[in-house]
Amino acid sequence: MQISKTDFIQYLHCPKSLWLLKHKPDDYPHGEFSDYAKKLAAEGYEVEAYVRQLIEAGEDAAHFSFQTVFQTDRGLYAKADMVRTNEDGSVNLYEIKSSTRVKTDAQHNQIKDACFQTIAAEEVGQNVRDVFIVHLNGDYVRDGDVDPQALLTFSKVTSDVRDIAEEIRAEIDQALVLLDATEIDESSCSCLTLSKANHCDSFAYFNKDIPNPSIYNLPRISKAKLETFIGEGRFDLDEIGLDEVTDKQAFVLRSAQLKAPVIDHAALSSWFSKAEYPLYFLDYETYASAVPIVDGARPQSPIPFQYSLHVKRTPDDLELVHVEYLADEAALPRAMVEHMQQHIGPTGSVISWHASFENTQNKTMAKQFPDKAEFLNSLIDRTLDLEDIFAAAYVDIAFGGSTSIKKVLPVLASDLNYAGMAVANGTDAMEAWKRLIVMAAGEDRDRLRADMLEYCKLDTYAMVRIFEEMERI
Ligand code: SF4
Repeated sequence: MQISKTDFIQYLHCPKSLWLLKHKPDDYPHGEFSDYAKKLAAEGYEVEAYVRQLIEAGEDAAHFSFQTVFQTDRGLYAKADMVRTNEDGSVNLYEIKSSTRVKTDAQHNQIKDACFQTIAAEEVGQNVRDVFIVHLNGDYVRDGDVDPQALLTFSKVTSDVRDIAEEIRAEIDQALVLLDATEIDESSCSCLTLSKANHCDSFAYFNKDIPNPSIYNLPRISKAKLETFIGEGRFDLDEIGLDEVTDKQAFVLRSAQLKAPVIDHAALSSWFSKAEYPLYFLDYETYASAVPIVDGARPQSPIPFQYSLHVKRTPDDLELVHVEYLADEAALPRAMVEHMQQHIGPTGSVISWHASFENTQNKTMAKQFPDKAEFLNSLIDRTLDLEDIFAAAYVDIAFGGSTSIKKVLPVLASDLNYAGMAVANGTDAMEAWKRLIVMAAGEDRDRLRADMLEYCKLDTYAMVRIFEEMERI
């Protein structure tokens, strides 16, 4: 069976999930991992266009080729992003990445990518002299047309690749053996003793007998504790004692056993004691691109392009004020901040969900626009995170051990949901904005704009409804 570089990276992440993809593609859940891989690939092509521009403007352009395939008899398939043929007949290999550094973390080790390419090239008889990772320069700030020379960094990784070549050769051999196997043990997988954050989309396939909810819904459960419960065959939360878990885990466990929400009224009151009217429910949408699309931005730095604001002026306010903004062109968000200044007064709490995200944008914008820093810093000082309630004051096993608004909303306000919306999450919103800013005026553009506004509006209205439900309690 053939193994590509992408397959090999998945093998390193998890051999069983690659086997499932190759042997039972209909059973393979194409979830977040696939979406993430697609996003990286799309960004890689975008960066490659600038690499081509740079190379084609150089004197030795004729020595370079792009997307060169190396296919070996034993099934290795590698497509090198760029190859330079040197005067002595040897080649240099270039892997083009959309990151701002050479990544060597466990999730994605780019040296291993480059090593796979090198091994494939050498197995078909190439003499590889040097290997480079071409990535983005994180310090580059766009100013007018993109300057490929300043945007790109060529990092030589030849010795790093040589250092791990033997290890990678052995892993490729093992991957080929696994892929040739027509059967594997499908009754469990090695993430059994790891917390939910480590599980991929295939966990349920390989662990069909584990109930839902289970011990994996206990937040921040340690490996040692998981091993104890698994060793005793206890996966069901009804089989776990309150004295066997931490206070935070006991919160979730009690809810699972009672099959009802568990509320810490003191913690809830403490959160509400900090909320001051008028309340401003605020949500941003941001766009992050590998190559900055506006002047003043850096590679991979998010740019807020939209916000929704619901204002609840008093506790009995029955007529919420709704304000929204959506940028029609690619630009740093000065106009958006000015719009917010007109609608967010000097007093009252700002409420967001997972507020560190909004406040990171506020901090970045305060640096970009020093004359707006006082206003943006006051938003940071006045922000309350509604998500905190669901970590420490109100837990329902129906949230599945999660504090995401996408899990909480259907339980607390079941009449509101994102299903069926043309723009239904942050990634959709990003994609939609990319299209919107280049679309000609007309019906299609108006519809897309309306879909984007509707989505962001639901985000803040959902917060109001959840807030009111908690306030009532
Ligand atoms: S959950 Fe199972 S299939 Fe998924 S990465 Fe972990 S071991 Fe592999």
